[in-house]
Amino acid sequence: MMLLTKKMIEIRSILQQVGQSGSLTLPSIVVIGSQSSGKSSVLEAVVGHEFLPKGSNMVTRRPIELTLINTPDSTAEYGEFPQLGLGRVADFHQIQRTLTDLNLAVPEADCVSDDPIQLNIYSPNVPDLSLIDLPGYIQIAGKDQPVELKEKIAALCDKYIQAPNVILAISAADVDLANSTALRASRRVDPRGERTIGVITKMDLVKPSRALEMLTDKNYPLRLGYVGVICRTPQTGLFTRNVNISSAISKNEHTYFSQYPQFAPDSGAHVGTQHLKKTLMAVLEHTMAQSLQGTSDAIHQELEEATYEFKVQYNDRSLTAETYLAESLDAFKHSFKEFTEKFGRPQVRQLLKSELEQRVLDLLAQRYWNKPVHDLSPIRSDERALSTLPSAEPDSLYWQRKLDASTSSLTKMGLGRLATNVVANALSQHLEQLVNDSTFKAHPFAKRAIQEAANQILNERFYSTSDQVENCIKPYKFEIDIDDIEWQTSRENAGKLLKEELKICEESMKELRNQVGGKKLGQVMQFVDKVRNSSQSEEAKVAMSKEGTEAFGFSQALLQKGREGVFLRDRADLIKMRLMAIKSKQCNNKDNKYYCPETFLDVVAEKLTGTAVLFLNVELLSEFYYNFPRELDSRLGRNLTPAQIEAFAREDPKIRKHIDLQKRKQLLELALQKMDSLMALEKAKKHDLSGA
Ligand code: GDP
Repeated sequence: MMLLTKKMIEIRSILQQVGQSGSLTLPSIVVIGSQSSGKSSVLEAVVGHEFLPKGSNMVTRRPIELTLINTPDSTAEYGEFPQLGLGRVADFHQIQRTLTDLNLAVPEADCVSDDPIQLNIYSPNVPDLSLIDLPGYIQIAGKDQPVELKEKIAALCDKYIQAPNVILAISAADVDLANSTALRASRRVDPRGERTIGVITKMDLVKPSRALEMLTDKNYPLRLGYVGVICRTPQTGLFTRNVNISSAISKNEHTYFSQYPQFAPDSGAHVGTQHLKKTLMAVLEHTMAQSLQGTSDAIHQELEEATYEFKVQYNDRSLTAETYLAESLDAFKHSFKEFTEKFGRPQVRQLLKSELEQRVLDLLAQRYWNKPVHDLSPIRSDERALSTLPSAEPDSLYWQRKLDASTSSLTKMGLGRLATNVVANALSQHLEQLVNDSTFKAHPFAKRAIQEAANQILNERFYSTSDQVENCIKPYKFEIDIDDIEWQTSRENAGKLLKEELKICEESMKELRNQVGGKKLGQVMQFVDKVRNSSQSEEAKVAMSKEGTEAFGFSQALLQKGREGVFLRDRADLIKMRLMAIKSKQCNNKDNKYYCPETFLDVVAEKLTGTAVLFLNVELLSEFYYNFPRELDSRLGRNLTPAQIEAFAREDPKIRKHIDLQKRKQLLELALQKMDSLMALEKAKKHDLSGA
């Protein structure tokens, strides 16, 4: 049994994964011959199936690295294209179609490419062999082909027929050996005929005596000799597709050769594809044995380089796609855990409260602070006196309605949805931040998975949470009970809120002043005031309203700034006035709620917030905190295939490099280990032989 070749083929497939550099190439049998010399037929007879591209349009344009793997324990016959990842292809016609497509993908203008196609064939009927099929030599280029094609093919073949490869030189019997392009090419690189096997095809086309002359040729003597074959493929019907043709060919050969004494075993002629197979195996085994040491040295050297690089660049830190994912996921879940501790009920409360405070401010601006303020004590803008505060009588229907309307705007605004939205958005935003602070930042796949996990849980919880919240605040739509403590707290809150608002107004004003210049702003604001307060200045009003026109030397842009200034000043005045109101004695009493809408609405906002937060915490936050890490585990953990994990890790170029180098190192180690045991075995074999 040809154990060595089998083992070497295993090693070769490991080295192929390493990304073969020239020095790591193991010897193969390279098949060369002129077009139509019967090259494909010989290869198909060896494999036992028709699988090579056929057609007049130069269908072999790339080298095919064909590895035959004998599988004695299985009847299955199939091919694999390791570069394509198609898996097993059991239909040899499919293999033929794939090879044809791969070849025809080489542009017509280039005609040939030296990028090899790898094809492995597994079968109990094939010997362990590694063969390389090359484009057939041509005499002259066809009319649609580039003129340099002949040279291109010859150069490609020359590249492959170098030592230590074995050359299988195919010549047809009906062509004089002196005209055989294959033999001439082999002679150039193997002048003493030491690593060339001659194959004479189409033996049935010449007289047996002529055939015998060729097989025992003395003009082109080859140490490994000539083998004569008849490989015409037997006609296979539709139903015999995929049936092994080896034995039909052998039978056919046997019938033919046994008729003539010229081919008798003692004639010195070697004939038949079976004989050819045996020769190929023996020669390759021998060549492999000779290349053991050289290959082992080459692997050693590559490994040393990889080991050194791994040490220097990564300090020998082991990393696989799986561990990288697991570590990243753990770290992310850890940071999520930390986040959950920092984002709880108090934070949700604050978030929601400030959202409601904004609504309260909007309501106040809409219903109370809008100009003209004739309902409040009149303030003339040129005086902007704060001396008189408005007084809203408790029994005034007008003020009652105003406050009732404002209150129900708050209680009936759809707080359920609003609150759920606010919290869900906050969670999403925080998660995005967590992702961007994590290793997942460089991984679109993981980013998507995390976002989808979060969205799924939030969407699932959304309606029930918002319904719950809405239900629970229902009582406030009808009645708001207040106690003194609540009133006082809200009075303080309202004061703080207004002070902040005042600060914002004043800062904006300052900014505006910086932009326009204090004096100019004063002038233009004065103008805007004047226009607003006087009905006589109709002319100026018209001038101001016209886009692009200027009024009294002020540009439209400047007038706009003036309006902004007036708005900010009036707003600040109002807020100052309301601050005084809040501080006033009247506001000390909760019964004066019509006078103190800011305080009352804050009480409402507080109550709504408190109730909403209770349910948000249970229905949304706790659920999310419980389910999210589990959802992550399923999306980024156990449900991923190894290929997905690999693809994930490779998204990050730094990680990809690390993993690749480590894998390369491991594969080289494995190859070397196999190589060492193989060499030990060979040594023992030699020892046994010499001892016997
Ligand atoms: P390639 O171009 O070198 O691959 O040649 P093919 O294998 O395609 O064969 C060219 C032609 O020769 C085909 O029509 C084959 O059927 C025919 N052929 C191949 N081997 C034999 C043989 O042993 N005897 C005869 N008579 N024809 C053969």
